[in-house]
Amino acid sequence: MSQQVLLSKSLPELVSWVQEQGQPAYRGKQLHQWIYSKGIHSLDSVTVFPKQWRDKMSDYPVGRSIVHHRQIASDKTRKYLLQLKDGSIIETVGIPSSKRLTVCVSTQIGCPMACDFCATGKGGFERNLQAYEIVDQVLTVAEDFGQRVSNVVFMGMGEPLINLEQVVDSVISLNQNVGIGQRNLTISTVGLPKKIAELAQYQLQVTLAVSIHASNQAIREQLVPSAKHYPFNELLSDCRNYVKTTGRRISFEYILLAGVNDSTAHAQELAQKIKGFQCHVNVIPYNPVQEASYRRPSPDSVKSFSDALEKMGIAVTVRYSRGLDADAACGQLRASRLPGT
Ligand code: SAH
Repeated sequence: MSQQVLLSKSLPELVSWVQEQGQPAYRGKQLHQWIYSKGIHSLDSVTVFPKQWRDKMSDYPVGRSIVHHRQIASDKTRKYLLQLKDGSIIETVGIPSSKRLTVCVSTQIGCPMACDFCATGKGGFERNLQAYEIVDQVLTVAEDFGQRVSNVVFMGMGEPLINLEQVVDSVISLNQNVGIGQRNLTISTVGLPKKIAELAQYQLQVTLAVSIHASNQAIREQLVPSAKHYPFNELLSDCRNYVKTTGRRISFEYILLAGVNDSTAHAQELAQKIKGFQCHVNVIPYNPVQEASYRRPSPDSVKSFSDALEKMGIAVTVRYSRGLDADAACGQLRASRLPGT
């Protein structure tokens, strides 16, 4: 992965790069536009460049993936299997709505967290993605829909805070090069000791979503193995400090599993602990995953749970995931390899 690629480079970096190749500085600006607005996959396509230079540079990697497979769900959500340079396959999801196009990006190939209800962790962990491999996912979905991407959620495969540097680089590139407002970017984490504080130091305007999933330490440990090393109260106090440092509220993600964490008593316990906090709870009814034996609660218990939170003054949204019939919904993404690679 040490080979340089053009994607995710900033305008000044591209200007220096073209100059190193003996080209005038203004070609850097043209290149920036062709990479991020026109979405070229090869320098050969930059028709404003001199033919001789294009021919010479045609093999220089831009850093774009190949769409290996695409599946469209009945709600128009599209799931992509993208093939990276080393043959690995990652999953990316494009979620259209009337006013938005949201991309759900992966940050790692596989995931080492092994949460009990999530398909991604069942396949193990391969490697972190580079910033350009994250930016590529957004450009690929924009190209396929023929539409500007308005929002990006870092909720695909992987744990973003394990790959913090590359994730932050991709945030900066998506913001400055692709032109997506930081407030339209959401980084989702299971929560790792020290990492929330480290993210806060970057002073980004992104939204932080914390996958809390439980109202106490005992239940959380059952669902999220890494919670054993991160006491519930410590996680909450790190979240409080994050709000203080960045001035941004936190979203808590709470996957609802029938008979496990979905009673009104659980809702009240959670509300007690996060009261007075600048936050919002997203309740996500469980999506079926082959290797897990959980069940989605009935619509009535989903409602009782969210009503109980609301009654205690907590802002709640129930989010039924999109893309369920294409295995593109939350928790259903998994890594795979092409045969022979
Ligand atoms: N590792 C990060 C990023 C992945 S986000 C994190 O945990 O936040 C994926 C989101 O989908 C998380 O909130 C996760 O808990 C949720 N999820 C995972 N499996 C799911 C399932 N089977 N049904 C519904 N949501 C699920």
